[in-house]
Amino acid sequence: MRAKIIDGKSLAAALRAAQKNALESLAARGLRPGLAAVLAGDDPASRVYLRNKARACEETGLRSEVHEFPEQVSESALLACIARLNADRAVHGILVQLPLPRQLDAGRILAAVSPAKDVDGFHAVNLGALLQGRPGFVPGTPAGIMRLLEHAGVALAGKQAVIVGRSTIVGKPLALLLLQKDATVTICHSRTANLAAVTRQADVLVAAAGSAKLITADMVKRGACVIDVGINRMADGKLAGDVDFDAVAEVAGSITPVPGGVGPMTIAMLIVNTVRAAELSLE
Ligand code: NAD
Repeated sequence: MRAKIIDGKSLAAALRAAQKNALESLAARGLRPGLAAVLAGDDPASRVYLRNKARACEETGLRSEVHEFPEQVSESALLACIARLNADRAVHGILVQLPLPRQLDAGRILAAVSPAKDVDGFHAVNLGALLQGRPGFVPGTPAGIMRLLEHAGVALAGKQAVIVGRSTIVGKPLALLLLQKDATVTICHSRTANLAAVTRQADVLVAAAGSAKLITADMVKRGACVIDVGINRMADGKLAGDVDFDAVAEVAGSITPVPGGVGPMTIAMLIVNTVRAAELSLE
């Protein structure tokens, strides 16, 4: 293997540990940050993600609570729960676990979360702030990727960054963050013609398509930094990213593994955002 492994797990642990000072000064003012998660339905992957988030919160010293609803929950029941959490002074961050059951309008549910408690950064107010380059909560996955790139010393100004995936929670906000760092950004998606020709131009290639091993070695420029966001459950129960790791690691200059790359950073940034929300609640 040629590529340097970018270790998201240890960086995430360091980031969480670095919250200690902020937590101590909040504690001195009688405040312990609290994160409330809203879960509707019984998607097994959502349960695993929430368990990991709750564990990371407890380990870091935050309080966490989960509000569970059955698959058939009504929109009004979820909205009532979010209204209660918006008003609850012990809750500083609210996350609505996606995907929501099909009968619910996810846009309306996410819009109900107070922007001041929207630690996932999915509310239009926070996404709009990101677009305008103003302060706000940035979604955890793209924020975590930027920290990984910074930590790995990856140059961005004037470089070609290619993102595969245009979702509102990963691809689009990441494009804005990379633009802020003066990269030349291309977003690819399911209708992109000749994906490989575009990805081969990338100095920084981010795969966020949700398609196992989509990115093969012939699609990667020698020496590129490859960030794998994908989490795909394979038939044998193992997790695989969107990148064919073993083959791509022979070509890339640096690469994130799955698991242990972007995933832990997403959770760490959620915690950073929740601590920040608690601090802002005192101002
Ligand atoms: P999504 O389904 O909302 O979006 C996927 C995007 O990929 C779409 O824009 C689609 O056009 C594009 N796409 C799909 N197949 C493609 C193909 N063959 N070629 C080019 N583009 C293609 O997904 P999402 O919510 O952005 O998540 C993407 C992946 O990242 C999933 O595997 C998800 O589990 C994972 N994810 C991981 C984390 C983490 O913390 N590591 C966080 C969020 C999402």
